[in-house]
Amino acid sequence: MSDLVVIDGSTGEGGGQIVRSALTLSMVTGRAFEITNIRAQRSKPGLLKQHLTAVQAAREICGGGVTGAELGSRQLIFAPGPVQTRSFTFDIGSAGSTTLVAQTLIPALMTADGASSLVIEGGTHNMAAPPFDYLQQVYLSIINQLGPHIGCELLSHGFYPAGGGKIRVSIEPSAHLRGLELMELGGPPIGQVTALVSRLPEHIGQRECELIRHRAGWQAKQCTVRNVTDSPGPGNIVMIRLTSPRVTEMFTGFGKKGVSAEQVAAGAWREARQFLMDQVPVGEYLCDQLLLPLALAAAQGQTSSLLTVPLSQHSQTHIDIIQKFLNIRIEIESIGPRQVKVGISFRNH
Ligand code: ATP
Repeated sequence: MSDLVVIDGSTGEGGGQIVRSALTLSMVTGRAFEITNIRAQRSKPGLLKQHLTAVQAAREICGGGVTGAELGSRQLIFAPGPVQTRSFTFDIGSAGSTTLVAQTLIPALMTADGASSLVIEGGTHNMAAPPFDYLQQVYLSIINQLGPHIGCELLSHGFYPAGGGKIRVSIEPSAHLRGLELMELGGPPIGQVTALVSRLPEHIGQRECELIRHRAGWQAKQCTVRNVTDSPGPGNIVMIRLTSPRVTEMFTGFGKKGVSAEQVAAGAWREARQFLMDQVPVGEYLCDQLLLPLALAAAQGQTSSLLTVPLSQHSQTHIDIIQKFLNIRIEIESIGPRQVKVGISFRNH
């Protein structure tokens, strides 16, 4: 493979994941990359604060050279040095997602030579990103099965637009990653609903819980409303956690001005109910988030397979980026109308 990986950021989904995954893969492989047309398919193209923080964080962690690291930049060249391990602090400076910045850095630090920790400030429960609870209970609980020991802590909540949230991630790496076989749930999922309400009437969370409890036929003890007092701004989110023996999944409704609590909760329940009907262990978002870590295990010779729903364009684009950096094979096999097997293995030539 040539040394400079050239990426057109407008291809496929044409969003921020292309930049973040290129940074991660570049840090892990030591290969430099050049990306043009960054987030070309978004209404406000170029690097936003969240993406720029990911670039600056990657630069701080592995040194090396970077050009184009500016807000709004549509082109970036990144040449990494070796990954350093210590305590790092990054401030997004807006309500941009701390969990997406964390997911950019974790795969590089989890295979590094020593322990490290990250404190990231920004949003912790953002629309169109994994909420902190998802990072902790869904993503990291699976990543830890690959070998590393990664813990995370919510230091304060941050909602859009005020931000002001803070998370800490502690990483004890594992040089050798294991593969994963996630082909079944292993038993019926148990549901738990948590509604967070910050600087808004508590009845919003109660109505969300009530709607989901009613539709799912669950008991009152399966629902919790938490009144958040450590956030500088208002916010609301309802999370439905489904815990089965092999995997925990989570489906989220994000409160928004002008949208009723019932509509927010109904959207989250629709996703959870679909997951329950599909009978797959890995939902759409979890699939796209696991592809890169499992690809790193595959590059070490460890095969993985997972059963999921038909791949999103986000996942398809992610696969293309991963294969630009790593000599691995990703095979997609349709099992049924809503079931797809993804196999990830080392490519032998
Ligand atoms: P843009 O598309 O504007 O460039 P971005 O850089 O913020 O946006 P995306 O590239 O869209 O982000 O990536 C969003 C990530 O967040 C994906 O990995 C997706 O799986 C994850 N995600 C989105 N919504 C949820 C959710 N409700 N629960 C868990 N993860 C989510």
